[in-house]
Amino acid sequence: MSVKVAKFGGSSVADTIQFTKVRDIVFSDPARKFVVVSAPGKRFNQDTKMTDLLLLCHTHLMNHLPWDQLFQVVCDRFSAIAFTLEIGQDKLDLQSEYQRIKAAMEDGAGSDYIASRGEYLSARLMAAFLGWDFIDAADVIKFDARGKFLAEETNSILSEELKKHKNAVIPGFYGAMPDGKIKTFSRGGSDISGAIVARAANADVYENWTDVHGFLTADPRIVDDPQPIKYISYQELRELSYMGANVMHEDAIFPVKEAGIPINIRNTNDPEHPGTFILAETPEDSRGVITGIAGSKNFTVIAMHKYMMNSERGFMKRVFSILDSNDVSFEHMPTGIDTLSVVLDNDMVGNKLPDIVEDIKRTLEPDSLDIYDDIAMIATVGQGMTYRPGVAAKLFGALAEQGINIRMIDQGSSEINIIVGVAGSDFEKAIRAIYNAFNQE
Ligand code: ASP
Repeated sequence: MSVKVAKFGGSSVADTIQFTKVRDIVFSDPARKFVVVSAPGKRFNQDTKMTDLLLLCHTHLMNHLPWDQLFQVVCDRFSAIAFTLEIGQDKLDLQSEYQRIKAAMEDGAGSDYIASRGEYLSARLMAAFLGWDFIDAADVIKFDARGKFLAEETNSILSEELKKHKNAVIPGFYGAMPDGKIKTFSRGGSDISGAIVARAANADVYENWTDVHGFLTADPRIVDDPQPIKYISYQELRELSYMGANVMHEDAIFPVKEAGIPINIRNTNDPEHPGTFILAETPEDSRGVITGIAGSKNFTVIAMHKYMMNSERGFMKRVFSILDSNDVSFEHMPTGIDTLSVVLDNDMVGNKLPDIVEDIKRTLEPDSLDIYDDIAMIATVGQGMTYRPGVAAKLFGALAEQGINIRMIDQGSSEINIIVGVAGSDFEKAIRAIYNAFNQE
């Protein structure tokens, strides 16, 4: 029988109605053997995520401020869900759980412990509601004493444990260090836990249930009603996420990618929708010319020109070392015969630009050096672009038609990505132009 691991994000477990949707989804397919949950997320725009509330309790505690009432808000939210789902004390003794957490906090438990309790209680509740076993992530997801995740050790412990359960609910986001201390992944890390469980369960699919239909071909804030992406490869996803498209935690890809397990992003509020499949290779007949467009603003380009640059040995190496000594990494480095540009993320550059420029001028003596400090980068990504002539022509033609000046072009050797740099003020217009050009076929 096939096995599915289903991870439900914060919005999918935000309240009683969402818990009920999760139950219906899980029970509608017996292959869904293992469920990983986040802590309850926002129920409405102004609401606070459970993890943020818990971290706020910790901040109060650290600053010797009263935190009882804040913690009471946490408890009340869980108790309300338990009450409306008719999970009585015989099934789950929430009061004792709250007492234990309070005692641990008073005893000096760290912020990771406190932050993790949202997932812990959420999973306890879900297990009681479904009538399934509960597996504590602290027993099966392992970190070393310095807080580094131990992938292989976790995989062997977890896969052994999963074999003992027909069905189980596992809290996302955390694990434990050798001394038993709780350690969390970075924020949004329940996606990683879900991927780890999928790998250990040798799942056929890792379902990531959220509140959107999956990936869209472009940002819906820029393009009206963009097409959903049905299939996307890990590599395409990496390129799009790097440029700002985001639905799931990037680190979550690794465990399942290694194991060749497809990820299926699904919408808890529209379970009939097939969502997006993330695979090693997308089915050839499903490929359009492009899979998606993503971009972000706030880049600086330093463009250098020097006659005979390409025969000057070590030119690039010296650029690297200047960036390195200023502790700045670069995003792209397109080159021409006598030109070289470095594209830097403005957040990374901070106030170091004058120093970098000064170093370059002094050591490399370029004939000219220009700085463009408000550049937006747009990536047009698609496996279908490989070996297909005319894609670049179409893209550049679409931009030209809209009077958009291209400041920089970069195409990786994989040929699945064309990146253009345009003025920040042209960003939205450029994305719409590219989208329209490829969606009129
Ligand atoms: N609850 C955690 C957070 O808010 C982890 C997660 O939801 O994935 O970051």
